[in-house]
Amino acid sequence: MNIFKAMVPDKVVGSLKDLDLDDLKARGINSLLLDFDNTLGPDHATEPTDFSYEIVKNAREQGFDMCLVSNAKSGRSDGIARKLDIPCVTYAHKPRPDGVNRALALLGKDKSEAAMIGDQVFTDVIAGKYAGVYTVFTEKYEKKEIWYIVLKRPFEKLVRLIAGF
Ligand SMILES: [Mg+2]
Repeated sequence: MNIFKAMVPDKVVGSLKDLDLDDLKARGINSLLLDFDNTLGPDHATEPTDFSYEIVKNAREQGFDMCLVSNAKSGRSDGIARKLDIPCVTYAHKPRPDGVNRALALLGKDKSEAAMIGDQVFTDVIAGKYAGVYTVFTEKYEKKEIWYIVLKRPFEKLVRLIAGF
């Protein structure tokens, strides 16, 4: 896939709360592969928030399987996933697609059944696209984020400006 095409998500939402699960179901999607930092909770949090629990509970009630797909160290993301009672792929190496593929294998799903959801074009969207799953870009959970992500945002802004999302 063309790298520029790989930067353009299939869907953009303001927050995971705005994610239309019925629309995903209509597309044959039954599994959510979730980034955590600034997607399902605050950047570098060690605990899920009420928001995280609410999103996971709602998706579960709607019949979705879920898996965290995090570039974070295993201790932190494993702990969060355990509390949310969902499996987790740590050291996912996004933007490489292998973490997404590991999550699909873990859930026993085909790529056509899953959506990768995250707040960063250069990790979540590209990894999802190269793995061949549906991709959802969400605006950040909160403004605060770690410096090396702040550095990437101007480039992301440029991509969004050009691609129009
Ligand atoms: Mg993130």
